[in-house]
Amino acid sequence: MLEAGKEFTAETFPPNEMDYNSQMFWNGGMDLNSKATMAFLRAKCVGGGSVINQCLLDRFHDEVFEEWREASSLDFLTGAEMKKHYDEIEKNLVLQEIPPEYRNKNAEIFINGMEVMGRVWSPLRRGHTDCAIEEGNDCIACLGGCHRDSKQSMLVTFLPRAREHGLETMTETTVKKIEADKQEVVVHALKSGETLQLESKKCVVAGGSFGTTSLLLASNFKKQLPALGEGFYCHPQIMNFGVYDEPIDSHKGMFQSVKSADPELHAQGFKLENVFAPPIAIALLTPGYGKQHQEWMKKFRNLACIEVAVKDVGRGRIKLDKKGRLIVEKNLTKEDQRRARIGVEFVTDIFYKTGAKKVMVSPFTFGLHLMGGCSLGADPSISVVNEEFNLHGFENIYVSDSSVFPRAPGVNPALTIMALSHRASERILANW
Ligand SMILES: Cc1cc2nc3c(=O)[nH]c(=O)nc-3n(C[C@H](O)[C@H](O)[C@H](O)COP(=O)(O)OP(=O)(O)OC[C@H]3O[C@@H](n4cnc5c(N)ncnc54)[C@H](O)[C@@H]3O)c2cc1C
Repeated sequence: MLEAGKEFTAETFPPNEMDYNSQMFWNGGMDLNSKATMAFLRAKCVGGGSVINQCLLDRFHDEVFEEWREASSLDFLTGAEMKKHYDEIEKNLVLQEIPPEYRNKNAEIFINGMEVMGRVWSPLRRGHTDCAIEEGNDCIACLGGCHRDSKQSMLVTFLPRAREHGLETMTETTVKKIEADKQEVVVHALKSGETLQLESKKCVVAGGSFGTTSLLLASNFKKQLPALGEGFYCHPQIMNFGVYDEPIDSHKGMFQSVKSADPELHAQGFKLENVFAPPIAIALLTPGYGKQHQEWMKKFRNLACIEVAVKDVGRGRIKLDKKGRLIVEKNLTKEDQRRARIGVEFVTDIFYKTGAKKVMVSPFTFGLHLMGGCSLGADPSISVVNEEFNLHGFENIYVSDSSVFPRAPGVNPALTIMALSHRASERILANW
């Protein structure tokens, strides 16, 4: 396994937000769209996003697979067929909800607000073993890696198993190009300024939506695969803050534990979760300059926060410029904006109905769930990866990550990335 980032352990994760942004993310924590109106976060470390995410692990509803089946013409994309892959993955993970007594005040505001508005909410399901909640551990720190090895990231779940089976890892090794003929795949990579060339019979590309798509574009696959780079989605996220008279301390304890589960809200095309972020991120999300910005930051402890994540319909595009640099064309369409607006208005109501004195909607939109670019599908003219998880026409190159999503699901993607990867692994073995 070749990984551009470093490998960290519970003992070596960077100790603060500034350091983990610069050491564990691509481009210091942020890629921007071509108009610089939207930011994207993607991990750069062994274990990828699973190391720095919240490990909220949801299955997709059957209707998502119905949409995907229609878009891809692939029959295996059904809830019933995917169930066995979810089951198999979940056998290897410890999944739990946060007990009610350990929800923080931000979660209580979310729950009260949903109930006042007559809407259904539910606990989030998280992958963790022991977060020492009763000792007052603040889980927000695990956005820079879990110092307790509690979070069910790849580092403590599937990677050790793969290593038991002989997986070798080369870190700080960036793959620049891959070439393939019927006999072998040749991978060109850069490690500490040195170029490397590796040959293998088969290769699985798993660099995430941006990583995989840009690598395949740099390797000139666009000629044979015209859909490469098309259909990028990211669940554009808007952070909304309610300002209360008393401290809410949204950053304390288990900072993310509840979500919307209301069919009507879901049908409007967005999801809600209680959430917060560490201080540098909050500073970035807060409007104004100088004194105005300072006034917001002084309220840090009094802020409640709910995210609106839009199930985006606008098809973004991933490209490379003439120098091979990543270009992401992604804007909110009118429909995406409508979904965002309804979500934000709903959350604003929640805040005011639960006693907020003021509401601030962050002017900053960002995407954490980067999906698509190498869509699954039967037709090579409108998709990139076939039902065997091969690039169309290349039986020795597989793709196994979020780049294969044909549409935005509107649900946290990580568990389904694993479930699809489980299916891909079955196909790889079947075709060996
Ligand atoms: C802050 C944050 C919180 C999130 N919370 C959740 C959550 O709670 N639940 C959820 O479902 N999802 C969450 N997500 C999203 C989720 O983590 C991602 O969707 C998921 O990790 C994507 O998996 P992937 O395998 O597609 O790619 P990644 O996890 O991004 O892995 C790709 C890996 O490939 C490496 N790579 C890329 N290009 C190259 C190259 N050319 N050479 C070598 N290596 C390369 C990268 O460095 C990276 O390590 C969150 C994301 C963020 C940023």
